[in-house]
Amino acid sequence: MKKLIIANWKMNPQTTEQVAGLYKKIVSGTKRRRKSKIVIAPPFVFITALKKIGGTELGAQDVFWENEGAYTGEVSAKMIKSAGANYVIVGHSERREILGETDEMINKKIRAALKAGLKTVLCVGERDRNDPNFQNFVKKELEADLSGVSKAHAGNLIIAYEPIWAIGTGHTPSADDIFEMATYIRRSIFDILGKKAAYETPVLYGGSVDRKNAGRFLRAKGINGLLVGGASVAAQEFISIVSAADV
Ligand code: PEP
Repeated sequence: MKKLIIANWKMNPQTTEQVAGLYKKIVSGTKRRRKSKIVIAPPFVFITALKKIGGTELGAQDVFWENEGAYTGEVSAKMIKSAGANYVIVGHSERREILGETDEMINKKIRAALKAGLKTVLCVGERDRNDPNFQNFVKKELEADLSGVSKAHAGNLIIAYEPIWAIGTGHTPSADDIFEMATYIRRSIFDILGKKAAYETPVLYGGSVDRKNAGRFLRAKGINGLLVGGASVAAQEFISIVSAADV
């Protein structure tokens, strides 16, 4: 099965020209790769431009839970689909920490995105690996964020395990640690959404992935792909990460 590799470009690059240039390099540098599927998640305003260029699937980095109305600055699931993206990242730790997103808000976003038919990437992960309750921290996020999700919509759910201490820090967990957490996540999904979802929901790893460590994470048991932040806005670095799936 192909590995899913999602590029979270965060608030980069700054201009349409830079975005198009980076995208074209990535598309051309990865087009012969057969063992991975690539999704690029640029800032909202660039989705349409990248859709016109074509070459990969696209994602948004957030979504609002209402369909339309007086919600200044917000973007609906329908708008995201209309712009040309079919994936959305929800609950990223930067949004939780910097913008104060709560599990209640994330839950509403997850339900709206799944209902609209978007492939929905829920980010979860502990703040402190030395906390003896770090697994419980992740379980609590999953329980709150997936509360009330219909089993009928769970086929579009993807979980990204992103330990907060690993994001943008250069620190990473071992392949065994990731396997253990992926198993724990699947067990939690079993309790929340049942057996089918527990078996079928892809679990990605994210946190300081680079060209040197990507192969280790792509081969980690229980992991179906990667969510790549900082390294995904450097074309050659990201192309090398994708190449690691073909080795
Ligand atoms: C992310 O932002 O989802 C992420 C994993 O960031 P980084 O790869 O830079 O750690």
